[in-house]
Amino acid sequence: MAGLTRERITSLVKRYRPRGWSIKASHRHETGGDADSETKTITVPRLETVWALHIFFHECGHVYRDHFKRFDMCSHQEEYEAEIYALHLMKAEGIHIPAYIIKGARENVRLRCEEDAAKWFQIDRKIARWARYDPRLQPRH
Ligand SMILES: [Zn+2]
Repeated sequence: MAGLTRERITSLVKRYRPRGWSIKASHRHETGGDADSETKTITVPRLETVWALHIFFHECGHVYRDHFKRFDMCSHQEEYEAEIYALHLMKAEGIHIPAYIIKGARENVRLRCEEDAAKWFQIDRKIARWARYDPRLQPRH
């Protein structure tokens, strides 16, 4: 499969950017993304790689799934939805998903499971399985 050209990335970003939201490039050394509902700004690394595109789609997932308007979801549930949204979108667009992106997505959700479990939130079983989160392997405090 051909690599992602900059033109392809530009057209995907144009197509999926949530209405009313703007996009800002994060600082060179920052590796994550952010969606700020106050300023309606999605901050992502420079959109030049499949890695950055995945982060953009992940942040779009938070917006399209209305995570800023819902207060009934734990962080691991929101992150899972955003990751699944991003991965499905890439698949639907025929974009090759490198293994490290899937690994990173699982790690992100697993970390959120650990954080939520530490706050005594119930961890969704399906999400725990997907993220390879095993509460028995949790460090004891
Ligand atoms: Zn997220």
